[in-house]
Amino acid sequence: MDYMISATAADDRIRAFAVTGKELVEQARHAHHTSPLATAALGRLLCAAVMMGWDMLKNDGDLITVQIDGDGPLRGLLATADNTGRVKGFVKNPWVILPNKEDGHLNVGGGVGKGILTVTRDMGRNDPYSGQVELKSGEIAEDINYYFAVSEQIPSSVGLGVLVDREGAVMEAGGYIIQLMPDASEEIIDRLEKNILSLPSVTELLHGGDTPEDLLEKALAGLEVSVSDRRDVSFYCSCDRDRVERALLLLGKKELDEMIADAKGEELRCRFCNKAYQFSVDELKQIREKRENGSE
Ligand SMILES: [Zn+2]
Repeated sequence: MDYMISATAADDRIRAFAVTGKELVEQARHAHHTSPLATAALGRLLCAAVMMGWDMLKNDGDLITVQIDGDGPLRGLLATADNTGRVKGFVKNPWVILPNKEDGHLNVGGGVGKGILTVTRDMGRNDPYSGQVELKSGEIAEDINYYFAVSEQIPSSVGLGVLVDREGAVMEAGGYIIQLMPDASEEIIDRLEKNILSLPSVTELLHGGDTPEDLLEKALAGLEVSVSDRRDVSFYCSCDRDRVERALLLLGKKELDEMIADAKGEELRCRFCNKAYQFSVDELKQIREKRENGSE
C-alpha cells in the first residue's frame, strides 16, 4: 500500500515527489522498538531518503545515505535507500522520550539537537560523493531543505510527517519534495510559496485521507501538475548471515578471543534492521581459524 510518485509541474520547471509510508515506518518501529519520538524522527528520515534515492540515483545498486549526527538524546540517526523504493535505517538511541512541544507535536528537533546532516551517494565507485550541512532545526524536513539549497543549489520545499497513536503505532507517515529548476520564473516561485504557506501539515493531509497525488495537487495548485511515475516503497534490508560472518572475519584477534573466552557464543544484530544472528563458540572458533589462515 505504501508508494511514492514523481511528477512535474509548470512546464517541467518543477520536479516533485510524494510518498505515503505508513507501513514501512511501522515496520521500522517494530524492528527497532522505537519510542514515539524516535519513530517520528526515523520515519521522517526514511520517507525523505526513499524519495531522494529515486530523485538522485541513476543506476540499480546505487545507494544514498542520509545521516544526521546530532547532540540531542537520540544520538543521531541514519537512513539508506536505493533507487527502487527500498529503504532501511536506525536511530542510535531508539528509546528516547521527551515532553511534547507547546503545539502538541513530538519534539523531534529537541531529540535530534544541533549537529550535521550528511548525504552520501555511493555509485559503486571508490569515491562516494557526499555533501554536508549544519542542521537547521533538527526537524528533518527543514534540514533536508537546507541541504538541497546549500549543497545541491536546488531551491526546494520539503514536507515530512509521522503521526503516532497513543500506543505508539504509526497512523500516518509520508511527505513530499518539490524542487525548482533553474529556469523557474518569479511567478512560479511566488505561486509555490503561497501554496506551501497555506498548506496544512503533511500528517493533517494524510490523516484527512489525502494520497501522495493529493499532496502534490495541493502543494502545486495552479501549476499544472502531471504525475509521471509511481513506485512501491518498503522497509527492506539485504543483510544475511554471510555478511555478518564477513564482519566477524574483519575483527581483531583479541576481540574474537574474548568472544570465545566468555564461552556463551555471540549474538550479533544488523544495525539497519536489528535482525539477530547467533554464533556458537564452535562457530566463532571456526571463524578465528579462517581468519588466521587468511581465507574465507
Ligand atoms: Zn539487516
